[in-house]
Amino acid sequence: MINLKELEVWFITGSQHLYGEETLKQVADHAQQVAASLNSDPQIPVSVVYKPIVKTPDEIFETLQQANITANCIGVITWMHTFSPAKMWIRGLNILQKPLLHLHTQFNRDIPWSTIDMDFMNLNQSAHGDREFGFMVTRMRKDRKVVVGHWQDLEVLKEIDTWTRAAAGWHDWQGAKFARFGDNMRYVAVTDGDKVEAELKFGFQVNTYGIGDLVAVINNIPEESIQELLTLYEATYQMTTDLLRGGDRHTSVYEAAKIELGLKKFLEDGNFKGFSDTFEDLHGMIQLPGIAAQRLMAAGYGFAGEGDWKTAALVRACKVMGAGLPGANAFMEDYTYHFDPANAMVLGSHMLEVDASLANEKPRLEVHPLGIGGKADPARLIFSVAGGNALNASIIDMGNRFRLLVNEVEAVEPKHELPKLPVAKVLWKPLPDMKTACASWIYAGGAHHTAYSQNLTTAHLLDFANIAGIEYINIGADTKINQFRNELQWNEIFYK
Ligand code: MN
Repeated sequence: MINLKELEVWFITGSQHLYGEETLKQVADHAQQVAASLNSDPQIPVSVVYKPIVKTPDEIFETLQQANITANCIGVITWMHTFSPAKMWIRGLNILQKPLLHLHTQFNRDIPWSTIDMDFMNLNQSAHGDREFGFMVTRMRKDRKVVVGHWQDLEVLKEIDTWTRAAAGWHDWQGAKFARFGDNMRYVAVTDGDKVEAELKFGFQVNTYGIGDLVAVINNIPEESIQELLTLYEATYQMTTDLLRGGDRHTSVYEAAKIELGLKKFLEDGNFKGFSDTFEDLHGMIQLPGIAAQRLMAAGYGFAGEGDWKTAALVRACKVMGAGLPGANAFMEDYTYHFDPANAMVLGSHMLEVDASLANEKPRLEVHPLGIGGKADPARLIFSVAGGNALNASIIDMGNRFRLLVNEVEAVEPKHELPKLPVAKVLWKPLPDMKTACASWIYAGGAHHTAYSQNLTTAHLLDFANIAGIEYINIGADTKINQFRNELQWNEIFYK
């Protein structure tokens, strides 16, 4: 569903006519080598496309205008190999709508001590050419990512990789559609927000569909498709015989398969990238979608429960940013605590809808009562989740701005069987410690719903927030509660 190599980042090198044809040929040749090297590097997930070097205001304007209108161009990398007087960039930067990475590099890594002469100095002068460019971007108050170092340096490649992933997540949001079946869970605050402002700021649209529209699609799923999916369930998951075809409790699994196919068809027909539902609005549905949501998330759709469209969109963006990396991105909820001072932990889960891509074992397909919503017992996948570094991210609507809040956590392997809690779950220790992390999260107004990531770092989320132009707040190993509260207060002034 997500192939980042189809996306392009344009590599644009600035210069000027002052140096003569011979030098400009060398500039172009070097720029081509750098672009080709980035393009073929396994660390860079997108295609890097060399663009002819730009030497005049018109060339700059036209190249950046083309970047804007090229559908699969997700951002531009600029580099001033020589000096490119930055007033030439004003018109182009003024209209640039794609994310910008300024690569402050140099073709030669080392100074050739014994042979360096004036020609070498004139050719390799990004040390001051890039400062001239940097001034103009800062003077224009434009956001960009600055990456410094030799273009073959592994750290540099990693930073470019991170930014291209953030740009890909952002690109995916532009024009994206998220379906909301029913409205928000009644009276709930943090999952709601300003959908008009979100569309202005983030570029995706969220619209509500009556549950009857979905039920009509579910009821029209052909019998052979349901049987095909049941065959797949039986081959993929551990199931007790009463749930198999012919078993006493098979009907629940049959209904779940039908719901999955109906939801999938609705989302495919409408070209949606994610959805939300709520257990308070299931008229005409036999059960709350459990396995359906779990499997659709694993297929790449964004999802969050109870009408939480912001988290559904964030889960989708995280899936795009993490595409191809080992590990998963999933909808999560802080559910219950283990307050043992020596081993404090959060148990994360949801009623049913825990992303199947988190499973580190063959999931069990089980049917149990839900105890909420008053519908038939829903089918769900149950599995455990691997330990390791992870993070929780939450987007909240502060009224005058959106805030992206991230908490780094360390997931731990569960040591206990939980025979009476038939849902998939994750255990983690939030950084820097339970008390600081939970208090900080609450001071910052973070939601109980999050996007849980096993393969993204704070660097991805920070680049993403910068591209989106929203507030970014991190809770991690260095967080001190007093300083954190000050940061929140200072940001109140900044965003006033
Ligand atoms: Mn919830």
